[in-house]
Amino acid sequence: MSKFLDGYSRAVRAKNLRSGGDDSGRVQHSDTLMAAAWVSKPVRASGDAGKARPGNPLGVALMRMFVGGDQEAKAVLRLLTEMLISKAYRAGDQLGPASADLIALLVLGWHRNSVCPECGGHGFQTAVGELGGNSRVVMGDTPCPACHGTAKRPFDAMFPPDRLWLALWLREKVEAKQAAAHAEASKVLSGRMELE
Ligand SMILES: [Zn+2]
Repeated sequence: MSKFLDGYSRAVRAKNLRSGGDDSGRVQHSDTLMAAAWVSKPVRASGDAGKARPGNPLGVALMRMFVGGDQEAKAVLRLLTEMLISKAYRAGDQLGPASADLIALLVLGWHRNSVCPECGGHGFQTAVGELGGNSRVVMGDTPCPACHGTAKRPFDAMFPPDRLWLALWLREKVEAKQAAAHAEASKVLSGRMELE
């Protein structure tokens, strides 16, 4: 977990618990939350105040869901469903809300936990370690038979062939939006951007 996500995670938890938290780091919870909120909102160009930005509410909601849990899941799911329906429509494809919901749910579920359960994210064939339990050890350099060395849970097989392009498109959006929100918020925190 990156430094920003780590701090953000602690800030979200502290806020959820309505406590001051026990953060001993230099960056305060309020700064972290403010940075994320700032990235989420659009900014209009206003003379010398700087460039306009479209805002990235989806990216911030995804980031928050990723570190904090379920409060944002509903809003994120609704946004993703709308994106799918509109994307399909623009491609001349009819996509009903129930189908869009299902695709969004599967993509979101995969995004939240994409680690291959067979190899635990190693990408190589593993076996249960000597200590037993859940510890697994890598056995040589044979690629994991479940994920073929990608270390990720299979994605394509979850979708009907004619919907796969939509699912892949949405996965790319989700990853890009979250990565952008993360990068922008980190930049805000480290003071390289002027706060309004
Ligand atoms: Zn695997």
